[in-house]
Amino acid sequence: PTIHEALNRRMHNGNNTSTLPGAVVRTEGQPEHADPVVNTNYDHLGTVYNCYNTLFGRDSYTNTGAVLISTVHHRVAYVNAFWDGTQMVYGDGDGVNASNLANSLDVTAHELTHAVTDVESDLIYSGESGGLNESMSDIFGAVCEWYGDGAGDVSARHWLIGDDIWTPSIPNDALRYMNSPTLDGDSLDYYPDYSSGVDVHYSSGISNLAFYLLSQGGTHPRAKTTQVVAGIGIEKAARIFYKANVDLLLPSSNFE
Ligand SMILES: [Zn+2]
Repeated sequence: PTIHEALNRRMHNGNNTSTLPGAVVRTEGQPEHADPVVNTNYDHLGTVYNCYNTLFGRDSYTNTGAVLISTVHHRVAYVNAFWDGTQMVYGDGDGVNASNLANSLDVTAHELTHAVTDVESDLIYSGESGGLNESMSDIFGAVCEWYGDGAGDVSARHWLIGDDIWTPSIPNDALRYMNSPTLDGDSLDYYPDYSSGVDVHYSSGISNLAFYLLSQGGTHPRAKTTQVVAGIGIEKAARIFYKANVDLLLPSSNFE
Protein backbone atom coordinates (compact mmCIF):
# COMPACT_ATOMS: atom_id res chain seq x y z
CA PRO A 1 0.00 0.00 0.00
CA THR A 2 2.94 2.40 0.32
CA ILE A 3 3.78 1.84 -3.38
CA HIS A 4 0.39 1.60 -5.09
CA GLU A 5 -2.51 3.91 -4.33
CA ALA A 6 -5.97 2.40 -4.11
CA LEU A 7 -9.42 3.25 -2.83
CA ASN A 8 -10.58 0.54 -0.42
CA ARG A 9 -13.96 0.80 1.33
CA ARG A 10 -15.77 -1.46 3.78
CA MET A 11 -19.38 -0.79 4.71
CA HIS A 12 -21.10 -2.17 7.81
CA ASN A 13 -24.72 -2.16 8.97
CA GLY A 14 -25.15 -1.28 12.64
CA ASN A 15 -28.74 -2.57 12.46
CA ASN A 16 -29.86 0.25 14.78
CA THR A 17 -27.77 -1.06 17.66
CA SER A 18 -24.71 0.48 19.32
CA THR A 19 -22.47 -2.44 18.30
CA LEU A 20 -19.48 -1.47 16.15
CA PRO A 21 -18.63 -2.10 13.45
CA GLY A 22 -21.59 -4.45 12.80
CA ALA A 23 -22.10 -6.81 9.88
CA VAL A 24 -20.11 -6.27 6.68
CA VAL A 25 -22.55 -5.38 3.90
CA ARG A 26 -20.39 -4.11 1.03
CA THR A 27 -16.66 -4.14 0.33
CA GLU A 28 -14.63 -2.47 -2.41
CA GLY A 29 -15.76 -3.33 -5.91
CA GLN A 30 -18.84 -5.29 -4.85
CA PRO A 31 -22.10 -4.46 -6.64
CA GLU A 32 -24.73 -2.23 -5.08
CA HIS A 33 -26.39 -3.36 -1.88
CA ALA A 34 -30.18 -3.45 -1.49
CA ASP A 35 -29.96 -0.63 1.08
CA PRO A 36 -29.58 2.75 -0.67
CA VAL A 37 -28.02 4.32 2.45
CA VAL A 38 -25.13 1.84 2.20
CA ASN A 39 -24.61 2.74 -1.45
CA THR A 40 -24.87 6.50 -0.99
CA ASN A 41 -22.35 6.50 1.85
CA TYR A 42 -20.05 4.15 -0.11
CA ASP A 43 -20.15 6.65 -2.98
CA HIS A 44 -19.44 9.55 -0.61
CA LEU A 45 -16.39 7.73 0.79
CA GLY A 46 -15.14 7.40 -2.79
CA THR A 47 -15.69 11.10 -3.49
CA VAL A 48 -13.79 12.11 -0.34
CA TYR A 49 -10.93 9.69 -1.13
CA ASN A 50 -10.72 11.15 -4.66
CA CYS A 51 -10.96 14.71 -3.33
CA TYR A 52 -7.90 14.23 -1.11
CA ASN A 53 -6.09 12.09 -3.71
CA THR A 54 -6.65 14.40 -6.69
CA LEU A 55 -6.10 17.71 -4.91
CA PHE A 56 -3.29 16.73 -2.54
CA GLY A 57 -1.99 13.35 -3.72
CA ARG A 58 -3.13 11.77 -0.45
CA ASP A 59 -3.80 8.00 -0.32
CA SER A 60 -6.58 7.68 2.28
CA TYR A 61 -6.49 9.29 5.72
CA THR A 62 -3.19 7.66 6.65
CA ASN A 63 -1.63 8.50 3.26
CA THR A 64 -0.73 4.78 3.12
CA GLY A 65 -4.04 3.47 1.79
CA ALA A 66 -5.91 2.62 4.99
CA VAL A 67 -9.30 0.94 4.43
CA LEU A 68 -12.19 3.39 4.84
CA ILE A 69 -14.50 1.67 7.33
CA SER A 70 -18.02 2.99 7.80
CA THR A 71 -21.03 1.89 9.85
CA VAL A 72 -24.48 3.18 8.89
CA HIS A 73 -27.71 2.76 10.91
CA HIS A 74 -25.94 3.27 14.25
CA ARG A 75 -28.35 3.24 17.21
CA VAL A 76 -32.00 4.34 16.86
CA ALA A 77 -32.95 7.75 15.41
CA TYR A 78 -29.44 8.90 16.28
CA VAL A 79 -28.79 12.53 15.27
CA ASN A 80 -25.02 12.45 14.90
CA ALA A 81 -22.04 11.09 12.98
CA PHE A 82 -18.50 10.68 14.28
CA TRP A 83 -15.00 9.33 13.72
CA ASP A 84 -14.21 6.97 16.61
CA GLY A 85 -10.46 6.76 16.02
CA THR A 86 -10.80 3.75 13.70
CA GLN A 87 -13.93 4.20 11.61
CA MET A 88 -16.83 6.46 10.65
CA VAL A 89 -20.20 6.01 12.35
CA TYR A 90 -23.53 7.45 11.15
CA GLY A 91 -26.96 7.69 12.73
CA ASP A 92 -30.22 7.63 10.80
CA GLY A 93 -31.34 10.95 12.25
CA ASP A 94 -34.75 11.39 13.89
CA GLY A 95 -36.45 12.73 10.75
CA VAL A 96 -37.13 16.07 12.48
CA ASN A 97 -33.78 17.55 13.45
CA ALA A 98 -31.92 15.57 10.80
CA SER A 99 -32.45 12.96 8.13
CA ASN A 100 -29.90 10.15 7.63
CA LEU A 101 -26.44 11.63 8.19
CA ALA A 102 -24.77 8.97 6.01
CA ASN A 103 -26.40 10.59 2.97
CA SER A 104 -24.47 13.87 3.38
CA LEU A 105 -21.23 14.35 1.46
CA ASP A 106 -19.98 17.24 3.57
CA VAL A 107 -20.71 15.36 6.82
CA THR A 108 -18.73 12.41 5.40
CA ALA A 109 -15.80 14.65 4.44
CA HIS A 110 -16.02 16.29 7.89
CA GLU A 111 -15.67 12.94 9.71
CA LEU A 112 -12.88 11.64 7.46
CA THR A 113 -10.98 14.90 7.93
CA HIS A 114 -10.98 14.21 11.68
CA ALA A 115 -9.01 11.07 10.75
CA VAL A 116 -6.57 13.08 8.61
CA THR A 117 -6.12 15.61 11.44
CA ASP A 118 -5.51 12.78 13.95
CA VAL A 119 -2.72 11.41 11.72
CA GLU A 120 -1.20 14.82 10.89
CA SER A 121 -1.38 17.91 13.16
CA ASP A 122 -3.21 15.93 15.88
CA LEU A 123 -4.84 19.15 17.12
CA ILE A 124 -6.05 18.58 20.70
CA TYR A 125 -9.85 18.43 20.73
CA SER A 126 -10.47 21.15 23.30
CA GLY A 127 -9.87 24.87 23.63
CA GLU A 128 -8.53 26.81 20.64
CA SER A 129 -6.83 23.79 19.07
CA GLY A 130 -10.17 21.97 19.30
CA GLY A 131 -11.88 24.80 17.41
CA LEU A 132 -9.18 24.54 14.74
CA ASN A 133 -9.66 20.76 14.60
CA GLU A 134 -13.41 21.17 14.07
CA SER A 135 -12.80 23.92 11.55
CA MET A 136 -10.45 21.72 9.47
CA SER A 137 -13.29 19.21 9.23
CA ASP A 138 -15.82 21.83 8.12
CA ILE A 139 -13.33 23.35 5.66
CA PHE A 140 -12.60 20.05 3.90
CA GLY A 141 -16.32 19.26 4.12
CA ALA A 142 -16.86 22.33 1.94
CA VAL A 143 -13.84 21.61 -0.27
CA CYS A 144 -14.87 18.01 -0.97
CA GLU A 145 -18.48 19.02 -1.60
CA TRP A 146 -17.16 21.52 -4.17
CA TYR A 147 -14.90 18.78 -5.58
CA GLY A 148 -17.84 16.35 -5.70
CA ASP A 149 -19.82 18.88 -7.72
CA GLY A 150 -17.10 18.87 -10.37
CA ALA A 151 -14.63 21.39 -8.90
CA GLY A 152 -16.11 24.24 -10.96
CA ASP A 153 -17.74 27.39 -9.66
CA VAL A 154 -18.23 27.63 -5.91
CA SER A 155 -21.89 27.87 -4.96
CA ALA A 156 -23.45 29.34 -1.83
CA ARG A 157 -24.50 25.95 -0.51
CA HIS A 158 -20.89 24.72 -0.39
CA TRP A 159 -20.47 27.00 2.64
CA LEU A 160 -23.41 25.40 4.44
CA ILE A 161 -22.44 22.37 6.53
CA GLY A 162 -25.00 19.57 6.65
CA ASP A 163 -27.61 21.58 4.76
CA ASP A 164 -28.75 18.44 2.91
CA ILE A 165 -29.65 16.51 6.08
CA TRP A 166 -30.42 19.22 8.67
CA THR A 167 -34.08 19.87 9.67
CA PRO A 168 -35.62 18.29 6.55
CA SER A 169 -38.82 20.35 6.86
CA ILE A 170 -36.89 23.67 6.81
CA PRO A 171 -35.24 24.33 3.42
CA ASN A 172 -31.93 26.18 3.04
CA ASP A 173 -30.87 26.04 6.69
CA ALA A 174 -27.79 24.24 7.92
CA LEU A 175 -25.87 22.98 10.92
CA ARG A 176 -23.18 25.66 10.38
CA TYR A 177 -22.65 28.60 8.02
CA MET A 178 -19.01 29.14 7.07
CA ASN A 179 -19.72 32.40 5.23
CA SER A 180 -21.49 33.89 8.26
CA PRO A 181 -20.96 31.65 11.29
CA THR A 182 -23.23 33.48 13.76
CA LEU A 183 -26.30 32.57 11.65
CA ASP A 184 -26.55 29.32 13.64
CA GLY A 185 -27.13 31.33 16.81
CA ASP A 186 -24.09 29.89 18.63
CA SER A 187 -20.91 30.03 16.52
CA LEU A 188 -18.28 32.75 16.83
CA ASP A 189 -17.01 34.75 13.86
CA TYR A 190 -14.51 37.04 15.59
CA TYR A 191 -11.52 36.01 17.71
CA PRO A 192 -11.88 38.79 20.34
CA ASP A 193 -15.24 37.17 21.25
CA TYR A 194 -13.46 33.91 22.13
CA SER A 195 -13.23 32.77 25.73
CA SER A 196 -11.99 29.47 27.09
CA GLY A 197 -14.78 26.96 27.38
CA VAL A 198 -16.50 27.86 24.11
CA ASP A 199 -17.56 24.57 22.49
CA VAL A 200 -15.20 23.49 19.70
CA HIS A 201 -18.16 23.31 17.27
CA TYR A 202 -18.75 27.05 17.85
CA SER A 203 -15.21 28.45 18.09
CA SER A 204 -14.60 26.72 14.73
CA GLY A 205 -16.54 29.59 13.15
CA ILE A 206 -13.53 31.89 13.63
CA SER A 207 -11.34 29.94 11.21
CA ASN A 208 -14.27 28.80 9.06
CA LEU A 209 -14.86 32.46 8.25
CA ALA A 210 -11.13 33.03 7.68
CA PHE A 211 -11.17 30.21 5.13
CA TYR A 212 -14.31 31.52 3.45
CA LEU A 213 -12.84 35.03 3.10
CA LEU A 214 -9.48 33.70 1.87
CA SER A 215 -11.33 31.70 -0.78
CA GLN A 216 -14.08 34.10 -1.84
CA GLY A 217 -12.80 37.48 -0.69
CA GLY A 218 -14.87 40.21 0.92
CA THR A 219 -15.32 41.73 4.33
CA HIS A 220 -16.43 40.54 7.77
CA PRO A 221 -20.16 39.63 7.53
CA ARG A 222 -20.97 41.72 10.63
CA ALA A 223 -18.44 44.48 9.89
CA LYS A 224 -16.32 43.60 12.93
CA THR A 225 -13.25 44.82 11.02
CA THR A 226 -12.70 47.08 8.01
CA GLN A 227 -10.30 44.60 6.38
CA VAL A 228 -11.04 43.86 2.72
CA VAL A 229 -9.79 40.37 1.84
CA ALA A 230 -8.78 39.47 -1.71
CA GLY A 231 -10.12 36.00 -2.48
CA ILE A 232 -7.69 33.50 -4.01
CA GLY A 233 -10.25 30.80 -4.84
CA ILE A 234 -11.21 27.65 -2.98
CA GLU A 235 -8.51 25.39 -4.43
CA LYS A 236 -5.56 27.60 -3.43
CA ALA A 237 -7.14 28.28 -0.05
CA ALA A 238 -7.57 24.51 0.41
CA ARG A 239 -3.90 23.92 -0.41
CA ILE A 240 -2.84 26.42 2.27
CA PHE A 241 -5.06 24.86 4.95
CA TYR A 242 -4.02 21.34 3.92
CA LYS A 243 -0.34 22.34 4.17
CA ALA A 244 -1.06 23.84 7.59
CA ASN A 245 -2.79 20.68 8.84
CA VAL A 246 -0.07 18.36 7.49
CA ASP A 247 3.18 20.28 7.99
CA LEU A 248 2.70 23.31 10.22
CA LEU A 249 0.12 23.01 12.97
CA LEU A 250 0.98 21.23 16.22
CA PRO A 251 -1.34 19.56 18.76
CA SER A 252 -1.49 22.72 20.88
CA SER A 253 -1.63 25.29 18.07
CA ASN A 254 -4.05 28.17 18.63
CA PHE A 255 -5.89 30.59 16.34
CA GLU A 256 -3.01 33.08 16.30
ZN1 LIG B 1 -16.39 17.22 13.99
